[in-house]
Amino acid sequence: MRKLVASHGPTVMKQRAVAYNRCHHAGKRGWDATMKKILITGAVGQIGSELTLALRERHGAESVVAAGHRTPPSEALRNSGPFITVDVADRRQLAAALDGHNVGTVYHLAAILSATGEKNPLLAWQVNIDGLINVLEVARDKKLDQVFLPSSIAVFGPQTPRDPAPQETVLQPTTVYGITKVAGELLGDYYAARYGLDVRGLRYPGIISSETPPGGGTTDYAVEIFYHALDRGEYTCFVGPETVLPMMYMPDCIKATLDLMDADSSRLRHRCTFNVGAMSFSAAELATEITRHLPDFVCSYEPDFRQQIADSWPKTVDDDAAHDEWDWRPDYDLATMTADMLRRLRARLGQAPPTTSDA
Ligand code: NAD
Repeated sequence: MRKLVASHGPTVMKQRAVAYNRCHHAGKRGWDATMKKILITGAVGQIGSELTLALRERHGAESVVAAGHRTPPSEALRNSGPFITVDVADRRQLAAALDGHNVGTVYHLAAILSATGEKNPLLAWQVNIDGLINVLEVARDKKLDQVFLPSSIAVFGPQTPRDPAPQETVLQPTTVYGITKVAGELLGDYYAARYGLDVRGLRYPGIISSETPPGGGTTDYAVEIFYHALDRGEYTCFVGPETVLPMMYMPDCIKATLDLMDADSSRLRHRCTFNVGAMSFSAAELATEITRHLPDFVCSYEPDFRQQIADSWPKTVDDDAAHDEWDWRPDYDLATMTADMLRRLRARLGQAPPTTSDA
């Protein structure tokens, strides 16, 4: 059972006060070149593009280096602080980027996601495993302060209990993406235990967001449906109506990531494997929630190869460890996420807000 209230220990409060003072100080004086910077790989992606802006808001623009690859950055990302390109599969390039920018912390978000990985398994291996080893090796060599490695509900497979998937359980995924994520968790834990590197990671559920489209995952339907609902009034979903998966709204994804990185290390019994839950719903329940705001919206279903991937993942996750060890608690559920997504996307698409209440 979850505890209802848990307070932050003195160490984490002290760390946060130091972080606040550094930002406050940096904001007043400008960035001090002796301060260690944060580098985000995969910064142009769905999560990286928003995490970069959140970290710049928190630590000052000059202290957060966005590392993209081939996709051009948005203006907001490009103009709000340093931007470089790095191929994470190239260890020398990565090491040079860390040296050149005096990096102390890496958020390693560059990856090939599940659906794209099934189309090109060797590329998934190269980026997700070679890239990850490069980040860990360079971090060890340069004695970085912290590394964040996102994992995924894709580490689970058909043998895992599905409702909920326990924190400690069978990890036998059937996708190459899932295989790389299991290896990533184990390697992260290994580098923490063997070399004392402060590596932390979460098993993100499907992430729903309004700023950057998702990059080839199995849960992309839960984002696409909003764009199509507003643009065309209809959507053909690539998983069936009964498909239930764990999901999370981007503000909670950013909060979980930063809270874990801020957490008092002495409280952490896990490192790279935290289950984090927020909401779970079927594709049909999501469509129904959207019709509360857009009564004419019609969703139809034509499952493709991604259905099999979705069926191998759990419906819900048990995230008691995240709650107990670093006080995880999400802010958004299906209703509040849907209302906020529609409000933000209407603004982005230049559509007028509805005349009746959208709440
Ligand atoms: P994304 O696909 O939107 O972004 C990943 C980025 O990595 C892309 O911009 C891509 O250009 C970049 N990239 C690919 N190959 C690269 C290379 N060789 N070198 C450098 N960069 C390269 O992914 P995302 O949704 O932002 O996911 C970020 C992390 O979170 C990934 O590790 C992913 O596995 C994990 N995750 C995401 C979700 C989700 O729903 N978005 C769910 C679970 C886990």
